[in-house]
Amino acid sequence: ALGADDIETLFGAMARTIIAHAEELTALDQAIGDGDHGVNMKRGFEAVTANLPAIAAKPLPEALKAAGMELVMKVGGASGPLYGTLLMTLGKTLPAAPGRGDVAAALAAAIDAVKARGKSETGQKTMLDVLAPVQAAVARGEDLATIRAIAAEAAAATVPMRATRGRASFLGERSVGHMDPGARSSQLLVEAVCDAIG
Ligand code: ADP
Ligand code: MG
Ligand code: MG
Repeated sequence: ALGADDIETLFGAMARTIIAHAEELTALDQAIGDGDHGVNMKRGFEAVTANLPAIAAKPLPEALKAAGMELVMKVGGASGPLYGTLLMTLGKTLPAAPGRGDVAAALAAAIDAVKARGKSETGQKTMLDVLAPVQAAVARGEDLATIRAIAAEAAAATVPMRATRGRASFLGERSVGHMDPGARSSQLLVEAVCDAIG
């Protein structure tokens, strides 16, 4: 099973990268949204950081649920409930000592929960356009370097897409030519997880 140190490393890595990239995420959201994605995510992951000792003291499933609830309460906007749903569903689905197959199955369940919550699908220029290819890569058994590369390619691939969900969809064609902020934050989170477990 993952110990408290491992869980602290995992959530610490996620929080550090989101906080370090908050201005970039906000700039992306200024282009096609309301300019708060970095601020929202930073607030959420600062709360996770503040509660890190308590979160890390729990077994992995409960730690994921606690971090997910923190994001729901603190991030707000569209992304808070969606990332919260992602982590809480991972917590409900993963065993305390997950193997590769468990991670693939839990990610699939968590992505389905995000789709249900967001009434969204892949191809709409959202976080799902990074999360879904990453899940597929995990299911295929790709190594961590490949998973990182797939996440980066998937975030970049949102640039030419036209948004049909979230605030960016209000811009229609004018959403084309910008990276989706939630796709970028998902890429950052995937990289942090790869770093933490690599
Ligand atoms: P808000 O749009 O409420 O200001 P944020 O700026 O924090 O919230 O988050 C915006 C991001 O959330 C988008 O870039 C997109 O990736 C994601 N998003 C928004 N709506 C949806 C949805 N229905 N399904 C999946 N992801 C979504
Ligand atoms: Mg926003
Ligand atoms: Mg907002």
